[in-house]
Amino acid sequence: MYKEMDKKYVLNTYPRNYVNFKQGSNATLFDDKGRDYIDFTAGIGVTSVGHGNARLANAIAEQASNLIHTSNLYLIEPQAKLAKKIAELYGEDVGTFFANSGAEANEGAIKLARKYGEKNFENKRYKVITLAHSFHGRTITTVKATGQKSFHKPDFSPYPDGFSYEQNIKDIYGSVNDETVAVMIELVQGEGGVQPFDKKDVQKLAAFLKEKDVLFIVDEVQTGVYRSGEFLATNLYGIKPDIITLAKGLAGGVPIGAVLTTHKDLFEVGDHGSTFGGNFLSTRAGLEVLNILESYKNSGELDESFIYFDSKLKEFALAYPKMFDEVVGLGLMRGLRCFDCVDLSKLIDSAFKEGVLVLKAGRNTLRFLPPLTITKNEINEGFKRLKNAFNKVN
Ligand SMILES: *Cc1c(COP(=O)(O)O)cnc(C)c1O
Repeated sequence: MYKEMDKKYVLNTYPRNYVNFKQGSNATLFDDKGRDYIDFTAGIGVTSVGHGNARLANAIAEQASNLIHTSNLYLIEPQAKLAKKIAELYGEDVGTFFANSGAEANEGAIKLARKYGEKNFENKRYKVITLAHSFHGRTITTVKATGQKSFHKPDFSPYPDGFSYEQNIKDIYGSVNDETVAVMIELVQGEGGVQPFDKKDVQKLAAFLKEKDVLFIVDEVQTGVYRSGEFLATNLYGIKPDIITLAKGLAGGVPIGAVLTTHKDLFEVGDHGSTFGGNFLSTRAGLEVLNILESYKNSGELDESFIYFDSKLKEFALAYPKMFDEVVGLGLMRGLRCFDCVDLSKLIDSAFKEGVLVLKAGRNTLRFLPPLTITKNEINEGFKRLKNAFNKVN
């Protein structure tokens, strides 16, 4: 019934599975028939503290019953608190602008970079270099910032000017010129195949960009908020970018985006804005998520889950040596690169039938983005079901 309703009234932009989820508990989802599923996707890296998290739900409910929104024309207490918390956890003196999504955060980052290019150079610099396998969002500008050619469909042209792509980090050096205002990369490419870059390569690039006065933008929409093991992957890589963007896991599923920058005076009043961005609801949720994850990290539980997931993932990959070439990623952003790939979608369908949700990235990567609070039992059960699924299709 709801399937027909959805098909009739909702625009058809997603390859949608018509399971009707009703409830969730940490990394477990329940559908309308009472079936349970282990969730290795966390809503594509969003439900960082799990489904049905009581602390988050209470914080949201309490906030909602007082105030949801007043606009950015007035002080928003949880917004100020969340911005302060972000700066403290990151450990740098950054200011934050709040948006509603990853793409919007990246738009904000690009605007900020262009302002830098206008203000600081006689001949305005405005060009942004990104990587070929990157993903930066779905708005018309962030689609153009995304390096994967398949996203630049002629259907939506013309696209904004000022973006170019390089295959690898080492190719960036030769392409920076006096029109380049910024380089934007993900430290671990998510949609592009769960591909982490080498720490030394990234640090070398950061030093080069600083020397050339070219801004370094790090898209941490997927890697941010403890997914890498540290608050930011930037912390893990030991770099200090000019601009960092966050979104997915930041408010546990309440829409939010954030632009962090050390250039705190670049945007002036009126330069940028958002009606919903940073409202009471989303920033209160963000604050609770950060409080939960901070203590989870400090107690050692987060690192323990990472080690356990890693061991189970490797054990699983080893059980199918003909299928999987490599275990990739870091923290709880992981992938299995399969060689001679059979239809990954078929595997994902079979996994669904066995009651475990997994994702695909790039052409040949089976992707795992579980809630950061996933338990050992849930990890065990998920891999058990995944084995059953694989045995059925192989
Ligand atoms: C998901 C993602 C985006 C886009 O975020 P939306 O909230 O869907 O706009 C941008 N960059 C990266 C790295 C992402 O993973």
